[in-house]
Amino acid sequence: MTALLDFVAELPLVDHHCHGVRISGLDRLGFEQLLTEADTVSPLGTSLFDSLIGLAVRERCAPLLDLPKHVPADEYLQRRAELGAAEVNRRFLRGTGITDYLLDGGFLPESLTATPEFAELSAARAHDIVRLEQVAEDVFRAGTTGAGFAADFAAELDRRTATAVGVKSVAAYRVGLELSGDRPGPSEVTAAAGRQLARGEPFRLADEVLHRHLIWAGLDRRLPVQFHVGYGDSDVDLHRCDPLRLTGFLRATRDLGVPVLLLHNYPFHRNAAYLAQVFEHVFADVGLITHNAGLRAPAILAETLELAPFGKLLFSTDAFGLAELYHLGAALFRQGLSDFLRAGLAADALSEVDAVRLAALAGHENATRIYRL
Ligand SMILES: [Zn+2]
Repeated sequence: MTALLDFVAELPLVDHHCHGVRISGLDRLGFEQLLTEADTVSPLGTSLFDSLIGLAVRERCAPLLDLPKHVPADEYLQRRAELGAAEVNRRFLRGTGITDYLLDGGFLPESLTATPEFAELSAARAHDIVRLEQVAEDVFRAGTTGAGFAADFAAELDRRTATAVGVKSVAAYRVGLELSGDRPGPSEVTAAAGRQLARGEPFRLADEVLHRHLIWAGLDRRLPVQFHVGYGDSDVDLHRCDPLRLTGFLRATRDLGVPVLLLHNYPFHRNAAYLAQVFEHVFADVGLITHNAGLRAPAILAETLELAPFGKLLFSTDAFGLAELYHLGAALFRQGLSDFLRAGLAADALSEVDAVRLAALAGHENATRIYRL
């Protein structure tokens, strides 16, 4: 690990995509389950600790629990249990230098902290991002009709976005990113809602027309729209999640002036960087892979910055449940940014004044501007 540039070490960060944290304690199984996107742990007798993220936990998280670097996993977990979840969460969340967390509360909310609780725990500001599909699924569950869906959804979305700073679509998980650029007409929406109702419980939304309708509802409200892109758990068909599949949609929405945020993106981060360069309303991050790639995270960030302008890159952890992930996401983002700028300074490709300014854009200024924080 190379030393961080001072101004990167002290850079305030806005985490524009993450989730709540678990407040209950975790045994080894529970911990490993939250560590990666895998569904099961210890596959055929191996451990996920023997991967770059496991090594990163032992290297970068152990010192926050008063342990030496590279402590064995069992000792790490023993110390974690000894301190208790509340203290562990406090230590990791308060040491990140993150001033604002934008929380997507739409996935397994019952197991995680809600937004106000998260703000208190992290001693930072916490804002809501509304997951569009969850709103629609709740509207179906509440007993809407095919013809009534559009109005019922609009009313519910207005209610839930009253204090939110953006919306998010998980179309990638359900139908992939091959979304048409056309706004669906009222009769198409009614027919699609009827199909959805006919499918019945649990009303898991997976209909290209409905996803598109939801996304346009976000655009109409001029709320920044986040898209899950690329890497995720085994529920996602990764081959359908290349952001280039959104090209038609992006071309159709570029004149609206509403920001579109491509989340995660790995292993398509270079494709996302291209879109961020050529479409003025497109922004990208490399959250989730940052902590998963551990010592390789700086390489991925550098590949993204080959093309993405600094004004188009955002920071996110995509941490979910495990306090370590907020810490690792922030620490490895700082490492990548610092290494990248340090190399640029060494090559005399930019001045220190430039480096400070560019770091601030990616660290917090872009997010503050886009989400009007
Ligand atoms: Zn996420």
